[in-house]
Amino acid sequence: RMASHDLRNPLNNLMGYLELVALTFRKEGATPAQEEYLDHIRQSAYMMKTLIDDLLTLERIESQREGDWQSFDLCGLVSEVVDGARAAAALKDQSLELDCPMDTGPVFGSQTQLRQAISNLVDNAIKYTPEGGTVAVCLELHADRFDFRVSDSGYGISPQRQARIFERFYRVDKSRSKDTGGTGLGLSIVKHIAGYHKAKVEIESTVGKGTKIIVSFPKPA
Ligand code: ADP
Repeated sequence: RMASHDLRNPLNNLMGYLELVALTFRKEGATPAQEEYLDHIRQSAYMMKTLIDDLLTLERIESQREGDWQSFDLCGLVSEVVDGARAAAALKDQSLELDCPMDTGPVFGSQTQLRQAISNLVDNAIKYTPEGGTVAVCLELHADRFDFRVSDSGYGISPQRQARIFERFYRVDKSRSKDTGGTGLGLSIVKHIAGYHKAKVEIESTVGKGTKIIVSFPKPA
């Protein structure tokens, strides 16, 4: 945790100067090779930033517990996250559907954490679904629980790998994942957040067809 904190400042400096170099290149011109080197440096710096941010998020969740819990409208939160992801889906020509029809009533939990978990699941569905695919987000109210579901028509995950995707740093297809710039921490963050909310996480997936991840929250008595 301390290493993550300590790395943040020098990395921010590095990224600031990187953007200054990019600006200088734009103003004064650069060779194609110089542009390419800068791109590589930028990608690596952003990758480090994502990794540090994810590690700090994980650490925050582990130390936070119930301090910031409050009552809030879960459907409103889901809609907000889905709206935030519309640009990413549009860039891949995907249809992003939201089905959140009923008034769920107030839910008690950490809004910050749940926003993060919902957003990790929706972002993954978009990342691991090819262009033109479909991502469907749904919130369903049952007598004893809420089911939050993200389904996609993407690459899918084999049964052996499904068992491991919630582990820290586990990534299924390194070459594909490299392009998507993930860290392998997203789903372990989801699992932690679900755990703190006493929610169960289930996965159904078929390679080449798609993935469905369901988070079931118990309804307060
Ligand atoms: P990241 O996306 O940063 O690699 P995650 O912990 O979020 O890390 O996911 C772990 C791995 O699980 C990913 O690398 C990816 O291979 C796989 N994965 C996650 N969500 C999906 C999905 N919706 N469809 C297919 N594969 C997925």
